[in-house]
Amino acid sequence: MADFFPSLPLNGKYFHTPFNHYNTMTEPVKLDLSKLSIAFTDRSLCARSGTCVGLCPTGAIELDDELYPVIPDPSKCTECGMCARACPGGEVDYEDLTEKTFGHRNDLDNFDGHIQETYVAHSTDEQLRLSGAGGGVITALLWDLLKHGEVDGCIVTRMNPEKPWMGEPFIARTYEELLTSQGSKYSTIPLNAVWQEVREKGGKYAYAALPCQAHGFRKAVAEDPELGKQIHSIVGLFCGGALEPYLVPELLKTKGLHTDDIKDFQFRGGEWPGQIRAILKDGTPRPLHYSNYKDGGYNYFIGLYMPKRCTTCLDGSCEFSDLSVSDAWTRDTQGKYIFKNRSRVIARTDLGVSMLHRAIERGTLVGEDVTKDPNYRTQKMQTQRKGLNAPLRVARWKEKGIAVPIYDRPTPQASAKEKRTERMVSACLAMGQTKWLRYRIIKFLTGRGAIPLIWLRQGLKKRKYAKRAKAAARAKAATKTS
Ligand SMILES: Cc1cc2nc3c(=O)[nH]c(=O)nc-3n(C[C@H](O)[C@H](O)[C@H](O)COP(=O)(O)OP(=O)(O)OC[C@H]3O[C@@H](n4cnc5c(N)ncnc54)[C@H](O)[C@@H]3O)c2cc1C
Repeated sequence: MADFFPSLPLNGKYFHTPFNHYNTMTEPVKLDLSKLSIAFTDRSLCARSGTCVGLCPTGAIELDDELYPVIPDPSKCTECGMCARACPGGEVDYEDLTEKTFGHRNDLDNFDGHIQETYVAHSTDEQLRLSGAGGGVITALLWDLLKHGEVDGCIVTRMNPEKPWMGEPFIARTYEELLTSQGSKYSTIPLNAVWQEVREKGGKYAYAALPCQAHGFRKAVAEDPELGKQIHSIVGLFCGGALEPYLVPELLKTKGLHTDDIKDFQFRGGEWPGQIRAILKDGTPRPLHYSNYKDGGYNYFIGLYMPKRCTTCLDGSCEFSDLSVSDAWTRDTQGKYIFKNRSRVIARTDLGVSMLHRAIERGTLVGEDVTKDPNYRTQKMQTQRKGLNAPLRVARWKEKGIAVPIYDRPTPQASAKEKRTERMVSACLAMGQTKWLRYRIIKFLTGRGAIPLIWLRQGLKKRKYAKRAKAAARAKAATKTS
């Protein structure tokens, strides 16, 4: 892996240099690993959310070049156990998180979690809308809070300007800085490491977070209530799974490029829904595959580059946020997207509802209330991935003695076909563990040779939607005649 990580990821801010790991140290201080976050005993369960780094009261924990926590100087660790208790990797207690977020323990065992209202929305600021992954809704909501003085900054992410193949967390305090945070970086980013700065500088912050990062935050507040007071709100992102940070260097290599050749990397660059592309040193955008990001980009990569911990995550809709934002992937009868540059917003808590309403009243967002429309109730593919495949995988691996997170949710009932599907997906994920194999597959899938596959996929989708439209028309006609 060394050739893919020529240097350290994030300006050395939260990072230890040179690469070092507590277990490889020769210092005489011996730590009780059971008092530390899960990465110190089993990296495969680490969500790499940065929670332990951000929470550690003595600043003993840093990140290595694969974004796992390390303790370079064990004498700084007091074995207080805070990092272990707040760690979102080894255990996710839904009832407990429900109580911490909603004030009761009524955990809804479904993919979308607690919903008060659902909107399809977009930012009224064209720049924010067009630079967003969807409708620029997350950034518009954050900007609304910042511009009205309700927060001092926003905890967000960007591609590291010096190492643009890596994502990094940062605090945006201006409109321009928020602009640089826009777009989805489908890569593991230790967002919660930024709490170090939050605690140091004081002030109030809004926070855009993936599900694992939000879990880390909810757990961390029990350890550090002052941190809880500093976070105004969580705007959550739906998440089908992040990708290993080594995806980008490997993808560049399939096109004969090196990390030194690029000045930026965009997971969804250009026109909506966007395309994975490298921005070369001279400013030229270089697409890295032949379809849009969804048909032949992200959907291929999650089969091969999803970290093991993400494959056992059951929360695809950021259930423990104030508001969750997803793409609005609704299609018409031709299989074409209805809502370009728009997002679906789920308001979960009272605070989330008031943030959404205020943003609409203040003219920051334009939104349509679709709470009662069943078409917007869920994302079917995601529900299958996270609501069915992931819990089946967790149960199966647990039986085989493979380490999995502890959940307080029952395993869903599944048909033989559904169980087979889960095994097939898991087999793909296993192939992704072998570097030469995944590299060859990805080189083929993102090359010209795979263009017929893209056509086939799009053709099948069109047929599926046309069939659905016919069935709906028939059903409508039947109700009319009866
Ligand atoms: C790893 C990942 C997986 C996703 N999976 C799905 C999915 O399966 N289905 C779906 O509907 N939507 C998914 N999304 C969310 C979707 O891509 C959009 O981010 C969302 O619709 C918001 O769009 P927007 O235009 O409102 O946000 P924008 O205005 O573009 O703002 C994006 C915000 O997301 C934050 N962000 C970007 N990448 C990360 C990251 N890696 N970690 C933490 N914060 C980040 C940015 O800091 C910024 O604040 C995923 C996003 C990510 C990052």
